[in-house]
Amino acid sequence: MAKIKKILIANRGEIALRIIRACKELDIVSAVVYSTVDAKGVWVRKADEAYVMDGDPIQAYLNYERIIALAKEIGVDAIHPGYGFLSESAEFAQYCEDNGIIFIGPKPEHIALFGDKMASKVAMQEVGVPVVGGSEDPITDINVAKQIAKDIGFPVIIKAAFGGGGRGMRIVAKEEEFEEMFEAATNEAVKFFGKGDAFVEKYIKNPRHIEVQIVADKFGNVVHLGERDCSIQRRHQKVIEIAPSPLLSEEVRKELYRVSTKAMFRLGYESVGTIEFLVDEDDNFFFIEMNTRVQVEHPITEIISGIDIIQRMIQIAEGDKLIFMQDEIRTRGYAIEFRINAEDPRKGFQPSPGKITTYLAPGGPGVRIDSAAYKDYVIPGNYDSMVGKLIVWALDWPGVVNKARRALDEFIVGGIPTNIPLHRKIVRDLDFIEGKFNTTYLDKKLDDMLEDMVFDIEYKEEGEDNEEAARVAAIVGAMNYMRG
Ligand code: ADP
Repeated sequence: MAKIKKILIANRGEIALRIIRACKELDIVSAVVYSTVDAKGVWVRKADEAYVMDGDPIQAYLNYERIIALAKEIGVDAIHPGYGFLSESAEFAQYCEDNGIIFIGPKPEHIALFGDKMASKVAMQEVGVPVVGGSEDPITDINVAKQIAKDIGFPVIIKAAFGGGGRGMRIVAKEEEFEEMFEAATNEAVKFFGKGDAFVEKYIKNPRHIEVQIVADKFGNVVHLGERDCSIQRRHQKVIEIAPSPLLSEEVRKELYRVSTKAMFRLGYESVGTIEFLVDEDDNFFFIEMNTRVQVEHPITEIISGIDIIQRMIQIAEGDKLIFMQDEIRTRGYAIEFRINAEDPRKGFQPSPGKITTYLAPGGPGVRIDSAAYKDYVIPGNYDSMVGKLIVWALDWPGVVNKARRALDEFIVGGIPTNIPLHRKIVRDLDFIEGKFNTTYLDKKLDDMLEDMVFDIEYKEEGEDNEEAARVAAIVGAMNYMRG
């Protein structure tokens, strides 16, 4: 296969910048499409070429006929979809292929398979992966659904078959609540995903969310890059991710790796992907879903393994063989990623887009920032509210917790509320420090954490930044001193 010389990035924000960085290091020309509201995006300036897409700011990243027409016009070899937007559209991947453009990702049939949560559970079970018990066909009849829930035994969880991001999901504790919850879940699924198909699954109590990063080339070589623990969630959405998981037994870890790589080999998967599992209190594990794209939390795996996942994706798409086999991959230390969002913890985490008037990112040893934010950047209200990701690394768990605390205390984002104060609370929580958490950890502790959360002063006035920053640093310093 020919070398890729020019890549079009069909995405925005920090992930667009992340892909540009990979292109530059590989000597590949990078081009981006951008919406009119994104004209000031730093990635638009850093890309070698940038093309505005007039009209609807979301369609700018979704209208694939337009994107492919542009790709042909400007002579790109390949498209990187990042995460979100077109990244999990089998149709788009196929359309790229039909137009002679390489889609940097898995084959369309695998995207389609894993886009359907029920079908993917069946497929994974067939290749030897334990799955959470539940219905195998989409259910529309509420009575049938209820009967299945009774057979499984309460509590159960209702999920949208084509859902994601925790939407279209409801936990049902007892039979009497089933009908109401089923309707709520399917209505939400129609609203967000256009399809109301739902299924019922056994609700696992206090599980940990553990996911395995897979890398596979076109020649049947499949390796894993270890696991990530994404148990720290708010309403089933990831807030903090950790690699490796601090409290996972070696036995479970090995089994997760074994079943994951074997399944991907048997399915003929290629590119990168993540297999998500729940691990219950007795160390049983169950597959829940697979993400056929690069994930938001990929940097923590890059940090502990030293492998650049985006570069690897590009090289696999080019037809390169993996240059490392499983026994050559070593991970070292612990990495934690904090999702820094423009959202207000005092107002139920409602998104708080707007102008960043002060921006002081942490630095120093073991600190990585993946962000497109800068002072005076206006986070638009049209997309997700991510400001960026703080990734920290240290050789051992206590070290990485201390590193996180130090880096979070340095991080100052002014002008808009963010969830940094929440992160600062979490890294001071004893259970977190001891590595004791599961997917219910944050929802259970949130009210207490909110009660005495210290918020940064919001920077509104130009010219006051340094003074304000010093005041915030003093407050955070005092907080640090008091709570250690
Ligand atoms: P989404 O695609 O919407 O993110 P997932 O299936 O990946 O949904 O699940 C997201 C989170 O929801 C999990 O990490 C876990 O916290 C919770 N969850 C999902 N399925 C179950 C289950 N069967 N039992 C308990 N919790 C679950």
